[in-house]
Amino acid sequence: MKSDIQTIPVCEPYLNGNELEYVADCIRTGWISSQGKYVEEFERKFAEYCGCKHGIAVTNGTTALHLALTTLGIGQEDEVIVPTFTMVASAFAVAYTGAKIRLIDCNDTGCMDVSKIEANITSRTRVIMPVHIYGQPCDMWPILSLALEHNLYVIEDAAEAHGAECGGHRVGGLSHIGCFSFYANKIITTGEGGMLVTNSDDIAQQARYLRDMAHSPKQRFYHTDIGFNYRMTNIQAAIGLAQLEKIDEHISKRRAIAETYTRALTADIHCSLQPLPQRVGTRPVCWMYGAVSTTYPRDKLMLQLQERGIGTRPFFIPMHCQPALKCAVNRNGNFPKADYLSEKGLYLPSGTGLTPHQIGYIIDTIKEILP
Ligand SMILES: *Cc1c(COP(=O)(O)O)cnc(C)c1O
Repeated sequence: MKSDIQTIPVCEPYLNGNELEYVADCIRTGWISSQGKYVEEFERKFAEYCGCKHGIAVTNGTTALHLALTTLGIGQEDEVIVPTFTMVASAFAVAYTGAKIRLIDCNDTGCMDVSKIEANITSRTRVIMPVHIYGQPCDMWPILSLALEHNLYVIEDAAEAHGAECGGHRVGGLSHIGCFSFYANKIITTGEGGMLVTNSDDIAQQARYLRDMAHSPKQRFYHTDIGFNYRMTNIQAAIGLAQLEKIDEHISKRRAIAETYTRALTADIHCSLQPLPQRVGTRPVCWMYGAVSTTYPRDKLMLQLQERGIGTRPFFIPMHCQPALKCAVNRNGNFPKADYLSEKGLYLPSGTGLTPHQIGYIIDTIKEILP
């Protein structure tokens, strides 16, 4: 085995731009807290990238979602519609506010099944939170028109989908607030970090106020609301800005990886590892390359790949199966599609820096293992 195929991680950060130079600049100049030019520039440029007027940088994607909900005044009396097939942060953020969660099953793409939303709107519903899962944009137009009809907010959890497009628009900018994560394995990273994007001046102002301890505008250190310290540091933003300069390269490299996998898996019609289908009219990004092991036991496949130096991860465990959320979820039926994906789905190595040699090895190994 060649050294670069000893163990192939599922995802590694790809830091090949001005990261070091900008971080060194922060340290040389002493601007290492949340004050500093990189925060402002990263906010402005990332918002612009999403087609939005405002960007509010925060500590991570989870706090971005929590801040989005509190900015809209969501609390104990309210309900938020969340897909069951997501990463737990989407649901935890709702739980922090005391609001109740209404879960929606996914469709074959892994995204929220929009046909199931309307039946779950109650007099308490305030927000729909679509999640662009693994980089696949949700079907946003029906969600937005339902929100308009029922006077609801939409918060996009775009933590996995920087740069993905739906009807020619980048996700995050399609709703009242878009929330992003810049965790080390996301499309672009700041190590830990997050951002809210919005076109509303009022939402942006309120989010900034709550992000920074809710100091009274008239008198600093006097507080009429409970605020948070969710500020991003200048060092994180310096990394983020360098990453953003190269986002097109990140996205196109990851798309090429996904295309290579899909071509290989679909060339053989008997292959029991099936790519997640993609909805027409969208331009996904590949955060993680997801596939479904339809007949061969998923966990056995993962173990065999691990033995051959290939890292994989199982799909998320749905929210209706999480004991921690028992009290926060208003239980409403069954979620067969999410159960199916969570039992059979895995993701293959998807990092931006993956080499053609590594991808070739992964594909050959899968074909060797599967009957
Ligand atoms: C990563 C992720 C988050 C949370 O982001 P952190 O930066 O890890 O807090 C939220 N939602 C989804 C869908 C994610 O994948």
